[in-house]
Amino acid sequence: MLAWLISICMASGLCCLPSQAKQKSKVKVLIVTGQNNHNWKVSHLAIQKILDNSGLFVTDVAVSPSKGEDMDSFSPDFSSYKLVVLDYNGDSWNGKMQKNFLDFVQEGGGIVIYHAADNSFPLWRAYNEICALGGWEGRNEKDGPYAYWKDGRLVKDSSDGIGGSHGEQREYVLTSRDHSHPVMKGLPHTWKHAKDELYDRMRGPANIGTLMYTAFAEPEKGGSGREEPLIFTVDYGKARIFHIMLGHAGDTLEDNPSMQCTGFQVLLLRGAEWAATGKVTQKVPADFPTDKEVSYRKAYK
Ligand code: ZN
Repeated sequence: MLAWLISICMASGLCCLPSQAKQKSKVKVLIVTGQNNHNWKVSHLAIQKILDNSGLFVTDVAVSPSKGEDMDSFSPDFSSYKLVVLDYNGDSWNGKMQKNFLDFVQEGGGIVIYHAADNSFPLWRAYNEICALGGWEGRNEKDGPYAYWKDGRLVKDSSDGIGGSHGEQREYVLTSRDHSHPVMKGLPHTWKHAKDELYDRMRGPANIGTLMYTAFAEPEKGGSGREEPLIFTVDYGKARIFHIMLGHAGDTLEDNPSMQCTGFQVLLLRGAEWAATGKVTQKVPADFPTDKEVSYRKAYK
């Protein structure tokens, strides 16, 4: 086949090999992890498997020192990646790492904020703008409004109260709020997510770009009683930021329903491709969940 291509190229005077090679080049991704109030040893491996198994990405992992250890030596080189996936909720990064991260973002780098990464760094203003919404770690009205869907629009509510909570883990239905974004093309209006936390009462600068999916946090399950934004982009300069609050990690890779959910995996893959390249080339798969039926990819592919 290759010999055939080369002979065609030579005969035509055109060379198709560079573009063929380009199509096959994978997106370089850095996953940052190593401290979290969650099971990061499971979550970062699940994310790595999902991305690598798609054939679109090639991943490296930056594992921080453990909590309380010296963070001075931890400073991954963001600039050699197209996409950074944050699975980190822990001690402050050193000044060099913070600066390198902000340079990466401000130069248009791709970012995925995954689950409890939006709990991290409550006092770092720029980071909270990169997340748009965050929770816990003392967040309250000083950190920005609540944001939720009400009467057909995104409401920002500056009333007093805690930032970040969730009810009991359960299956729940997500509802789309904007289908114009490349990540959303072809995805259903509603779909049922596997058992997971449903983050609610999150607050922050609330600079949400495109609000993709919300879910209702039922009071009888300990939720806020609001239609909560769970998957969205963040409006922050020329950066492409995809924030997904789903995916509370289980005990093992085999017992990890929220991340084994096909809906979670497909949204992560589409959001990651868009954040890295500005486009989504993936087709919506036939096994995507419906509004009645949860769907699993237990092997992360
Ligand atoms: Zn969680």
